[in-house]
Amino acid sequence: MRAEVIAIGDELTSGERLDTNSRWLSQRLVENGIPVLYHSTVGDDSAACKEVIERAIARAEIVLLTGGLGPTADDLTRDAIAVATGTSLQIDESMLVEIEAMFRRRGRDMPERNRVQAMFPTGSRPIPNRHGTAPGIEMRVLRGDETASHLFALPGVPAEMKPMWQETVLARLNEIAPQSGVIRHRQLKCFGVGESQLEAMLPDLIRRGREPSVGITVHAATITLRVTARGRDAAECEAQMAPTIATIRACLGTLVFGEDDDELHHATARLLQQSQQTVATVECASGGLVAEWYSEIDEEGVFFRGGEVRPRSDFARGESLAAASLAEFVEQLASEIRERRGADFGLAIGPLPEVDTATAAEADKVDEEAASRERFYYALADRDGCQVYHGRALAHPAIRKELAGKQALDRLRRRLLGEPSAEA
Ligand code: ATP
Ligand code: MG
Repeated sequence: MRAEVIAIGDELTSGERLDTNSRWLSQRLVENGIPVLYHSTVGDDSAACKEVIERAIARAEIVLLTGGLGPTADDLTRDAIAVATGTSLQIDESMLVEIEAMFRRRGRDMPERNRVQAMFPTGSRPIPNRHGTAPGIEMRVLRGDETASHLFALPGVPAEMKPMWQETVLARLNEIAPQSGVIRHRQLKCFGVGESQLEAMLPDLIRRGREPSVGITVHAATITLRVTARGRDAAECEAQMAPTIATIRACLGTLVFGEDDDELHHATARLLQQSQQTVATVECASGGLVAEWYSEIDEEGVFFRGGEVRPRSDFARGESLAAASLAEFVEQLASEIRERRGADFGLAIGPLPEVDTATAAEADKVDEEAASRERFYYALADRDGCQVYHGRALAHPAIRKELAGKQALDRLRRRLLGEPSAEA
């Protein structure tokens, strides 16, 4: 069984709206052991919709459509399915009664236009929609070679589509493809080395065809190792993944900071809370990102004692209080915020070097010498004193702030794990 997901709507093909429904449906299909081979996105155009549906029926045993089931003239899915399957639309009287009842409950008469939502291609059956007026459509379509393709059309509104998947489609798929197992993923999040360096630390895990498979991706210097297993059920998948995950953890040690949706701020937040400690921040290079991350998970100030954002001009030499150098000023700020906010840790992140956009944009290709120039200072103060560090500023402009904040947080994390405070 292979699936195709079709998203319908001009707002998708025009780029106005991102097609998140296909992503969601594909994740559900894959979780349930049905591989997705194609995504198609098509505008509100009858001929194009018909063509896409015909092609999907021919090449996929499961076809999920989303969007275009509404009552307006630009909602073409219903017609397109009928045309593509060589059937015609018929009124389903009991569905019509239900749709009318739905409007009555909302204190309105059903507009004539909504009648079309009770029209179904011959041989199909409705998929109930508790959250809207448009029922979905389920249809088994026989192909020329006597095999069948199963088609499910759902509304585009995510709040309607998702419950319909959960309440009807999933159970139907289990009937249609009962033998298929499940797929589970676990993600290990790492920070502190480059992608190739990290890969070299692992025994041949990332090769194609390995079971469970291990994939590697990077986003803003956070490396994600994604372990994927197939099995009869979730427990079997977990059991298959456990040894691989243990191997990765043994090879990478503290480079692994968390799992799945964890980010460095979650990891440090956990460690701070476990040890009942607190932190306060002063930020320049990271523009307040650390404070934003922390305030999102700690509105009450349990471990986050507040943060300041300071402009680059505060750091200009001479203006900077009585500090002898930029490094010393950053160090002072870390100690000062720690004391002023009564926190266990003070974290200060100095300014990035003036942006040399030409260099920064070519970040991938830059040599070591440029990298050594492109540094910033950050400092971590605790009850024993304050240590200043060099951070790596060289990165694509889009992720420079994030990278600065993450490096400082990773330093805090390592300190909380008991690593000595000396400059690395
Ligand atoms: P309705 O009965 O509400 O008209 P519909 O099936 O006709 O439902 P659409 O008109 O295609 O659905 O889309 C309704 C809204 O649902 C869109 O404006 C958009 O907000 C959201 N939507 C539609 N398709 C998608 C998609 N692929 N990903 C994310 N959101 C979507
Ligand atoms: Mg619509």
